[in-house]
Amino acid sequence: MPRGTARGYDLRMQRWILHVDMDAFFAAVERLDDPSLVGRPVIVGGLGPRGVVSTASYEARAFGVRSAQPMAQARRLCPQGVFLAPRHERYEVVSRQVRAVLARFSQLVEPVSVDEAFVDLTDADPPPERLAMAIHKAVPRETGLSCSVGLAGNRLLAKLASEAAKPGGLRVIHPEEVGGFLDPLAVERLWGVGPKTAQRLSDRGVRTIGDLRAVDPSLLHAWFGAAQGATLWRHARGLDDSPVVPVREAKSISQEATFPEDIEDRAILADELRRMATGLARRLSEEGLLARAVRLKVRWADFATQTRQVKLPEPTDDPSLIGDEALSLWERRVAEGGQGVRLLGVGLDGLIEASFRPLSLFCSEDECAAP
Ligand SMILES: [Mg+2]
Repeated sequence: MPRGTARGYDLRMQRWILHVDMDAFFAAVERLDDPSLVGRPVIVGGLGPRGVVSTASYEARAFGVRSAQPMAQARRLCPQGVFLAPRHERYEVVSRQVRAVLARFSQLVEPVSVDEAFVDLTDADPPPERLAMAIHKAVPRETGLSCSVGLAGNRLLAKLASEAAKPGGLRVIHPEEVGGFLDPLAVERLWGVGPKTAQRLSDRGVRTIGDLRAVDPSLLHAWFGAAQGATLWRHARGLDDSPVVPVREAKSISQEATFPEDIEDRAILADELRRMATGLARRLSEEGLLARAVRLKVRWADFATQTRQVKLPEPTDDPSLIGDEALSLWERRVAEGGQGVRLLGVGLDGLIEASFRPLSLFCSEDECAAP
């Protein structure tokens, strides 16, 4: 339905978040690289005496092998298994391929681990369900690996949807289906409900999310305190407004200069830091990014190198703020070497999209006013 109609307007109010989870990722990559492993129980993890299972293929899971299980136990359960040590660099390469596929569908991709990502499809065109189907087909087609996809109104539900779709499926949870979907699930499936919380709930007869939804909020408050009680109340209703925070592939940018001769004059060095900060800030604003941390690199005349980093109070692309932080790093954190500087560099880290500037930067004058 075209935008601008009454229904289109309602659809824009509804957020649509997609969660992609690669199936048995490490084991699947090992199979991709060695097709003789296809159809066999593949177990990837630490092979030493105290190793644990990172990933088990579905064939291995049929024997009871699970992630985080001691490897010795996995070997007993599945003696015919193929046991492999993880190759993290290779998995990282494949993970980047997956992210590249996702990036073609949306700019709002947040990788949450090597084999999982959230994608915000709220403003997607074509509609989110069609895009979800396209992504569900494109990832296996372009990487040779199976993935599970969940689509729902927020991150909490999208992740539960992809779990329900495993392995290899696509599950959409429409707003009117949320209660029916959540009710039969065990409370442990909710974020923030670990074994201890689950035990305390179970002691009070609360085992499913449906049970949890029926608990009066004042009881949740009494049992778990205000913060956790409120979170449990919201999550039991499938409520979650946490944003998808996209991270660019290039999470940092930097600039450095090697001087023709070593420099001892502090004023020249300060000018140089300011100049680099201004150049980097311009690059940020050109690309619509904000930095969350500033890094200073100093190489002394004797080639010793120091690197110091500071987190910014708020993400920024302001050249004078960045310059101030670089200068204060220099003044507070860089040892006086009693020698000249051969190389000076400024870097910006933790880059995020400027559209995700925290709300505090948007508050009105009086809300922001210092006391
Ligand atoms: Mg996975």
